[in-house]
Amino acid sequence: MNQLKRRPRGAFFIIIPFLLLLGAQVILYGNFFQTLNADTQVINELSRIRGSIQRYTKLELSQARVKAIPVESEIDRLIAHNMELPLTKRLTGESRYYDLDSLNIKWNELKSLVEIYHDDPSQKHQLSVVSKSEECWIVADSYVVRQQYIVNQTATYYKYFTVTFGINLFVIVLILALYKRFVLNSIASSAINDSLTQIFNKGYFDQFLEHEIARAARKRTAFSLIMLDIDHFKRVNDTYGHRQGDYALKALADVVRKCKRNADVLARFGGEEFIVLLPDTALSEAVLLAERIRESVEAFPFEEIGRMTISLGVTEFSQDDNKESILTRVDSALYLAKENGRNRCEVIRKGGENA
Ligand code: GH3
Ligand code: MG
Ligand code: MG
Repeated sequence: MNQLKRRPRGAFFIIIPFLLLLGAQVILYGNFFQTLNADTQVINELSRIRGSIQRYTKLELSQARVKAIPVESEIDRLIAHNMELPLTKRLTGESRYYDLDSLNIKWNELKSLVEIYHDDPSQKHQLSVVSKSEECWIVADSYVVRQQYIVNQTATYYKYFTVTFGINLFVIVLILALYKRFVLNSIASSAINDSLTQIFNKGYFDQFLEHEIARAARKRTAFSLIMLDIDHFKRVNDTYGHRQGDYALKALADVVRKCKRNADVLARFGGEEFIVLLPDTALSEAVLLAERIRESVEAFPFEEIGRMTISLGVTEFSQDDNKESILTRVDSALYLAKENGRNRCEVIRKGGENA
């Protein structure tokens, strides 16, 4: 069984640039809406100017001057209002609003021609009013068409913008989902792993042992336990310091991990005491593995410390065992190995006799 690995917490900070981008996009989004709104309003007003000039001309030529007065002041107001609008630059560099000067000039010319026409309502003066009104229409219409083009352009940008906004949002949700998984994994990992050696801790091992006892009893299968303890480890700490002691524990866990099979469960059982559970393994096989572990540790060069040895106790599950009885037996076997001179394996069989 593989031990859970820790992953770097810094990964979470990858999200920061995406969040900043999202913030900028939200601000831009608001801007887009405002601009689109203002542009649409300009189209409405330009269209009204365009239509009202035609209405004004029609009323004036039909001698309905009283009715034409409010139309005239409405056109004056709309032109003045649109001339006041700021000449902002859009992304393409084009002017967003028009300089309505040329329309204003033509409009004032039209009003003068109307006055002339009223003083002398000849056909010639009527024609010049109609012709000026047509010029006003052409200029106003070109403004409307151009403004519509600008709104279309803005809407296209808005489309691309929505796509990038969606992608960014998706990336953020993805990062959050991965981070949630990482946090849950870390919590699960720290609950079952020993922080120093990164192998299982005693709490997890106890649960696994109970589970394995139930399984072996139900299916009438075998399993074995190896308990091992570093010889004279106190001396190692006293001579080389706690840091070297910690390093030795980590290195020892690695050596044992390399010796065991994938299915075997290795845990730190106490300070410098480790335990291995070998599922579906009879005592004879377990003894071979224990001896291999002992030899590997003896041969391993521990940095400043040099050589270290371990003592091991081995036992096999018996059908009437419970957690306490099998742990007591393997602990007794380990104690025996210490008693008999250390750097050795001792076995205690199911009945309690020493092999
Ligand atoms: P024996 O051969 O009888 O096992 O002798 P020993 O010195 O190994 O046994 P003892 O129980 O006297 O000492 C165990 C030492 O293990 C004492 C303790 O400081 C050390 N130890 C336990 N946990 C840690 C740890 O996490 N880091 C370090 N550096 N030392 C530890
Ligand atoms: Mg010891
Ligand atoms: Mg000990």
